[in-house]
Amino acid sequence: MSIFWPTNTTDITDEIREAIGRNVTILITASGIPCTTCNLNPVSNLSTNPFCPECEGFYWKNTTSGYVVKAHVYMGGFGMGFTGGLDFQNRVAGGWLPFGGVAVQIKYTTENEYAVKHAIHYIVDGRTFLQDDVTYLGVPNINRIIITLKEQDN
Ligand SMILES: [Zn+2]
Repeated sequence: MSIFWPTNTTDITDEIREAIGRNVTILITASGIPCTTCNLNPVSNLSTNPFCPECEGFYWKNTTSGYVVKAHVYMGGFGMGFTGGLDFQNRVAGGWLPFGGVAVQIKYTTENEYAVKHAIHYIVDGRTFLQDDVTYLGVPNINRIIITLKEQDN
């Protein structure tokens, strides 16, 4: 017996995400950014100015940048006693979202995968989340990434 998978599932997933998805900001670390104030000492690979106010003498800097991506956001409940709703009924990889949990589903692209792998925080609806678990999904080819998030304690 052969199992045939529909070949257009990626298109359908993309269309749904475009229609009901919303923008999520992934804050990522970009490392190895050259300092704009001082010069590099090629021998030490450090700044020629150990007291540079911008890089503190390291020359190479790490910065945080925001990467905005369209995501399908799953909320695991919206308030006291809420156990239903369209979003809640979406099962995510690894089981049901815990109450209060959040998962985002984004398209699988090289850029999105890079952002996920270098993610520090996720900003969803103005709230800051930490990455909990990452799952790659798609048949026969990976076409989406699901990231479960937990809210950051302030
Ligand atoms: Zn510098």
